[in-house]
Amino acid sequence: MSDCERIRPLVPGYLDGELSEEQASPLRKHLLDCRACRTATQGEKALRGWFVAGEVIAPPAGFAAHVARRAFAGDRGERAPADPVGDPRSQGAVLNFVLAATAAAAVLVLLLAGGIGGVGLPTEGGLRADDVAPVTEAEVLRNLERLNRDAVGEADLVRPDPGSGRE
Ligand SMILES: [Zn+2]
Repeated sequence: MSDCERIRPLVPGYLDGELSEEQASPLRKHLLDCRACRTATQGEKALRGWFVAGEVIAPPAGFAAHVARRAFAGDRGERAPADPVGDPRSQGAVLNFVLAATAAAAVLVLLLAGGIGGVGLPTEGGLRADDVAPVTEAEVLRNLERLNRDAVGEADLVRPDPGSGRE
């Protein structure tokens, strides 16, 4: 049985940090020497980067609110021309961009709510940016505040402090 054949089955456990030092040490040594196993391990690791179980990738605090505020304030974003008086066609494009950005922020919030709160997402197929009903800034900010509160509550549930039942 070659080193490679012994090493390969251990790679997933190694990436999950489940190996003892006794197992991990020869594996690391082999990876230094063996390009094929190194490539395989890196491929596996890159794949895992996309599917880290239980990890919530959170945007910076206030990110969605910031995006929503800017969108409602008519921010044109970096892609828009600097000249504020464009022709009506490009203004329409800018408006569409802002609406799309707003809708994208709303969808992002919805997805985060689903991920954080375990809230079921709508199962209808028609989750399209141009189907999103018009919303007011106040509405968006109110929802964001509610989501933030929910997120905090959920985080407390996920990491219970043993021996302490106080809020
Ligand atoms: Zn090898």
